Amino acid sequence: MSETFYGSDFDALTAFDPDIAEVLLGELGRLRGGLQLIASENFSSPEVLTALGSTLSNKYAEGYPGRRYYGGCAEVDKAENLAIERCTALFGAEHANVQPLSGASANLAVYGAFLKPGETILAMSLPHGGHLTHGTKVSFSGKWFNAVHYGVHAETEDIDYDQVASLAREHRPKVILAGGSAIPRLIDFEFFRALADEIGAIFWVDAAHFIGLVAGKAIPSPVPYADVVSFTTHKVLRGPRSGAIVCTAEHAAAIDKAVFPMMQGGPQMHSIAAKAVNFKECATPAYAAYAAQVVANARALAGSLGELGIRPTTGGTDTHLSLHDLQGVGVTGKDAEARCDAAGITLNKNAIPYDPAPPSVASGIRVGTACVTTQGMGEAEMRTVGRLIHEAVTTGDADPEHEVSRRIRAEVTDLVGRFPAYPR
Ligand SMILES: *Cc1c(COP(=O)(O)O)cnc(C)c1O
Repeated sequence: MSETFYGSDFDALTAFDPDIAEVLLGELGRLRGGLQLIASENFSSPEVLTALGSTLSNKYAEGYPGRRYYGGCAEVDKAENLAIERCTALFGAEHANVQPLSGASANLAVYGAFLKPGETILAMSLPHGGHLTHGTKVSFSGKWFNAVHYGVHAETEDIDYDQVASLAREHRPKVILAGGSAIPRLIDFEFFRALADEIGAIFWVDAAHFIGLVAGKAIPSPVPYADVVSFTTHKVLRGPRSGAIVCTAEHAAAIDKAVFPMMQGGPQMHSIAAKAVNFKECATPAYAAYAAQVVANARALAGSLGELGIRPTTGGTDTHLSLHDLQGVGVTGKDAEARCDAAGITLNKNAIPYDPAPPSVASGIRVGTACVTTQGMGEAEMRTVGRLIHEAVTTGDADPEHEVSRRIRAEVTDLVGRFPAYPR
């Protein structure tokens, strides 16, 4: 460690608080020891983690660079300015706000910027791939705003664009939202832009899941089409656990005021510095190669599972994730998740479009390739992963001590041993 840097001192933590030190090591061991296929997770770099574990966490800096409500902000101003410059350059955006604390708080600010309580938003429904913050009844978004929801077409299982258009013309929402947490296919941003223009609505994209693929230029960007794009920084993007918003110059002031002081207090400057590091990483050729490989791996994994009878919805994927229908193999999402977990494979049960089962059981699983690609795995390994998932789902057991769980776990250990996460 550099003599002049103060932070991330694991030996000191171990001496003072062995209980928490043990948790940190246990979690590192968990993620190193198994296959991490949760589509919203990734392994951020030691550089990002270093910025997170720094004294910038101490600093109060309410306001924006050059316009703070506290003294002593010269150093953190540099970090926030770098984060803003790198973010706007990376996405070709006119304005960036890097203060949101998470994806949900970024979304809260977007609501605050454009909608008054009771006004209408048109968004994708949660059971068809949307997000809690897109107007579900349990979230502020559904309690305070009038949410109208579109879904996917029963046959194509992709967004039902005819339904989107007819709902928009009928309900005249103030904001139209595209994006979600279980959408394997590309979204037609041009369609949404034209529709928003037709009815005079704001077009908002929640790119939390796929923004990393946009940063790596592996899929088309929503930025040229949308008025505002909110996103998380810890999913495919691979930065710290946080959020950000980019928007057109026209909406810059409204977004900034909505983030602070409307929705948040002091920004997390350690996290903003970590976002700056991450945006710099995302501008490298290595990151572009990573993003392309994430998609190639997702296609290989979806294809492999499909060949084994675990059908990908929409027939495949264009992104980092695929959603699989387990009805063909007669296993519930809940059981599949438990069996995979026992075999060292972490993934999540997920509702599939028009799912006959309740969400707590679900008929599907969702898998993503951001983590395994960060570990250096390629398409050949994805075919092995597909076989292991299929074995665990169809012949496995929720008991980690079951013979099948042990046998698959041994194969998983061998595979991740050849592609270590956070190599020693
Ligand atoms: C993950 C996600 C969010 C929320 O992000 P948090 O950082 O967990 O608050 C919002 N929208 C979408 C589409 C997401 O996938």
